[in-house]
Amino acid sequence: MSDPGDLRVPHVALLPSAGMGHLTPFLRLAALLASHNVCVTFITPNPTVSLAESQSLSNFLMAFPQITRKQLHLLPLDESCPNSEDPFYYHFELIRRSSHMLSPLLSSLSPPLSAMITDMSFASTVLPVTDSLGLPNYIFFTSSAKMLTLYVSFHTMLGPNHTIKDDLQVPGLGPIPKSRMPPPLLQESNNLLKTFFIENGKKMTESSGILVNTYESIESETLAALNEGKVLRKLPSVISIGPLAPCFFETSQQLQWLDDQATGSVLYVSFGSRTAMSREQIRELGDGLVRSGCRFLWAVKDKKVDIEDDEKLTEVLGEELLERVKINGLAVKNWLNQEEILSHPAIGGFLSHCGWNSLSEALWDGVCILAWPQHGDQKVNADLVERIGLGTWDKSWGWGDGEMLVKAEDIAQRVSEIMGNDLLKLQALHIRDKARRAVGDCGSSTKSLTALIDTWKKFQ
Ligand code: UDP
Ligand code: UDP
Repeated sequence: MSDPGDLRVPHVALLPSAGMGHLTPFLRLAALLASHNVCVTFITPNPTVSLAESQSLSNFLMAFPQITRKQLHLLPLDESCPNSEDPFYYHFELIRRSSHMLSPLLSSLSPPLSAMITDMSFASTVLPVTDSLGLPNYIFFTSSAKMLTLYVSFHTMLGPNHTIKDDLQVPGLGPIPKSRMPPPLLQESNNLLKTFFIENGKKMTESSGILVNTYESIESETLAALNEGKVLRKLPSVISIGPLAPCFFETSQQLQWLDDQATGSVLYVSFGSRTAMSREQIRELGDGLVRSGCRFLWAVKDKKVDIEDDEKLTEVLGEELLERVKINGLAVKNWLNQEEILSHPAIGGFLSHCGWNSLSEALWDGVCILAWPQHGDQKVNADLVERIGLGTWDKSWGWGDGEMLVKAEDIAQRVSEIMGNDLLKLQALHIRDKARRAVGDCGSSTKSLTALIDTWKKFQ
């Protein structure tokens, strides 16, 4: 905590990227900084892609009136903006193309800023803006330190035709095999994700520091490798500040069904905020959950963007499956407050895509994971789940992205294995204790954050 007698209050502006996977850790960081007496301006690109983002933002700002919001109104599309299948990446690009408008916004803030914290997706477009204002800019990397090693190395791995031939090898660290990298990175053709990795990965080396939502006891070797120049010779400090604690600002939900279940008996099934499975895979999954005989709470998602996800459960699952689901589970097709679910005593396991925030929330609550990575950084994250003993991962399931159809009987078997694995449940509780220690009063992440805030005070 800052010394209450210390009147030098740093002022920091935060700029998150599109999607709940980026917005959520930024909101948590904003709340944490505010609790350390930092004055926070939260810049929100407008409009957002999903309803979840706009609702979460307005709930947050109501709960934290001391945090000032500034909107960055995004420029309309022009034809040179490459179209992408992914509405979130498209939005990243829109924000990148509107970055120059930050200059008047940032310089008009009062009191003047001590620093800026920018999402990794905008490093190459926002760092030139803050450089010209003489403002320190820290990049917030919203995935793991392991993923950061790939992010900053990617541009050095490119061969002819802009493809990569080899796995990523960092001395002293396990490799990141090509098969675990986000598939768009392996394509010959250019795509938005590849461009982001190349341009931002290069430019990040010029930032004032890189913040990561991780902590020493799960990624100490990777953090050391990054900070000792083993990944890239010239990197600014990589500062672990996690796991960022959930902050309860969402309105509480009615969970009568969950309240009625026995302690540790329910598997929570969710693939995050922006992953839709094929209908065929959704039905196979439903069948598998029923066959497992375990209790489950299943967040069904049929479209990437929530506003378009308007078909009823009966249409998505079919009447027969929906009836069978009701025997031992509950399927819902609306946004659930996941933080609240994971901390509920009835939850005993989590079938997860291993988005970095879902993973952080599971370890925060000591819930073990059955990993089923779908795309992006999720195989790298699933590997970590296995290595730290938080859960299991059946690698034969491949990527979720329509690569293969995972059959109901395989799902049923893995679900009953994890729900019956008492050792894993104990390990998860142990991991929870260490996670909370990292952000406790004398924890490693707390110390790093306090030191950073002290640096900002000096910049005043
Ligand atoms: N989330 C939630 N309710 C839902 C779906 C997702 O609260 O129904 C939250 C989840 O707790 C996490 C974030 O949305 O904080 C999703 O981020 P993550 O990195 O896990 O995955 P992504 O959605 O980016 O794939
Ligand atoms: N990613 C990134 N920078 C970008 C876009 C994506 O580092 O500009 C990372 C992202 O955090 C993850 C991977 O690329 O490590 C794939 O992202 P994913 O599809 O999971 O998207 P997300 O839900 O994080 O937006």
